[in-house]
Amino acid sequence: MHKTIIIGSGPAGYTAAIYAARADLEPILYAGLEPGGQLTTTTDVDNFPGYPKGILGPQMMDELKEQAQRFGTIVKSDYVSKVEFVNQVGGTHLVYDGSDNQIKTQTVIISTGATAKYLNLPSEQRLIGAGVSACAVCDGFFYRNKEVAIVGGGDSACQEASYLANICKKVTMLVRKGQMRASKAMIHRVHSLENIEIKYHHEVSQVLGQNVVEGLEIVHNQSNEKSQLAIEGLFIAIGHTPNTKLFEGQLIMDQTGYIITNGKTTKTNLPGVFASGDVQDHLYRQAVTAAGTGCMAALDAERYLQELPNH
Ligand code: NDP
Repeated sequence: MHKTIIIGSGPAGYTAAIYAARADLEPILYAGLEPGGQLTTTTDVDNFPGYPKGILGPQMMDELKEQAQRFGTIVKSDYVSKVEFVNQVGGTHLVYDGSDNQIKTQTVIISTGATAKYLNLPSEQRLIGAGVSACAVCDGFFYRNKEVAIVGGGDSACQEASYLANICKKVTMLVRKGQMRASKAMIHRVHSLENIEIKYHHEVSQVLGQNVVEGLEIVHNQSNEKSQLAIEGLFIAIGHTPNTKLFEGQLIMDQTGYIITNGKTTKTNLPGVFASGDVQDHLYRQAVTAAGTGCMAALDAERYLQELPNH
């Protein structure tokens, strides 16, 4: 019987591991199929406190892993294939690894993150990290006084377009329908900013550039007319998919699949099961906020174990 199993190896999972290991919970962390998570697909991380010169995303994840291991976390290069949670205080939760081995645990910390959706054009995929990004707050700074485009018409696209408008010379929003899905307040905000141009009924047909983004070929999806847009950064803001398929039917989630946690805690609807990071947060989605909730999850797990009658 283990005290804590952590699922996921982004900033939330590793921070949970650091705290859990230092509290003698002897955590085992399953790194999953994309070890290190979303930060391994970015280059420079300039907004994580404590790195005055910035740090490369993959390096930061290696260092977080090393820090978690230093206190005794066992990091498994394996994934979790199935879980069977129980709704009972002090009950035993079952976790199955990639080879279907059963692991018994008193607590589980879920840090499986979310995956940004992309357009999945070959030219876009090739240039991720070289001008194509799914996070304006992370990468917008690199396009100071430059022209960029953003795809999407939801609240995220509007929020990121407003953020980019403060930094960049011009922001072109490409919205595939004749209207946006975002809230009225968000739409008003983008309309009020002079350096945002909105192109409705437009989609990206190709990202131009060999090694870095040099422009876009866009198409009007009603007239089929193609044109080119000279930009240096392309931001994709068409939504995220929380990685929660594994927990469907067992944990309470919102309608888009994010795990719902209780108030300011990381508690899920099941005793001993906690969620941290982007898997329970569609609003902030930052490495530092994920790390913060990872810390909270480990503290919540520790307190849960301490309060068990047979402790
Ligand atoms: P949404 O799912 O709300 O919006 C996605 C947008 O991307 C839609 O405009 C959609 O177009 C478009 N889109 C999807 N696929 C493609 C594609 N292949 N090509 C072009 N466009 C595409 O996602 P968000 O991330 O914006 O928001 C997720 C949730 O988070 C929402 O509930 C939102 O309200 C919330 N949120 C709230 C914020 C706030 O309150 N401050 C900030 C950010 C998010 P279409 O409409 O045609 O389907």
